[in-house]
Amino acid sequence: MSIQENYSNIKDQLPGHVHLVAVSKTHPVEVIKEVYDLGQRVFGENKVQELLEKYPLLPKDIQWHLIGHLQTNKVKYIAEFIDTIQSVDSPKLLSEINKEAGKHNRKIKVLLQVKIAEEETKFGLEAEEVKDLFQKFKNGEFPNVEITGLMGMATFTDDENQVRKEFLNLKRIFDELNQLKSLQTLSMGMSDDFPIAIECGANSVRVGSAIFGRRDYLK
Ligand SMILES: *Cc1c(COP(=O)(O)O)cnc(C)c1O
Repeated sequence: MSIQENYSNIKDQLPGHVHLVAVSKTHPVEVIKEVYDLGQRVFGENKVQELLEKYPLLPKDIQWHLIGHLQTNKVKYIAEFIDTIQSVDSPKLLSEINKEAGKHNRKIKVLLQVKIAEEETKFGLEAEEVKDLFQKFKNGEFPNVEITGLMGMATFTDDENQVRKEFLNLKRIFDELNQLKSLQTLSMGMSDDFPIAIECGANSVRVGSAIFGRRDYLK
């Protein structure tokens, strides 16, 4: 299937309230422009270096989301233009984003990444840490960030029940925080599991290979 077909196929599967982040990591700017020309404006990258190479070559109305683990010393390179950082996985990173956003007189939107997968490999905050950070944010501790929601990744497995359990767990935490202060975004679901994520309450999905094709896994 062509990228165009892939894209409309995915769009057709998303209910109106679900936002799409097109995950363009490893794909060249020409291909990203193709999807842009189909109307997509929100793209996700997981590496700062790669994003910095692509950013100047693509239209300025793209909203870039950083979705991969971010080292604190790299925040300064993207603070001026990044729309949303979805992968905030430590208090230290949140403080750094707050500081760098302040230097540019802007507020950066962030999602707190919650560790929901049973696997040991995934980054993310524990539920208690999430609540603690959110409380601090609510009390005004990070004036230059806007915590707009939560992000999570389920275990990489064929066991749908496991995936569902993890997504529902994140939804529960989301609902709890949402009572304290209203949140917009629950980002969960990728190419293989986004339909389950949506069933479990996701209103934003991060889809890469189902649009752009398989990545070169040697990279
Ligand atoms: C790569 C990536 C995605 C997209 O994965 P696909 O399986 O290609 O859809 C989503 N979220 C994160 C955090 C990623 O790193």
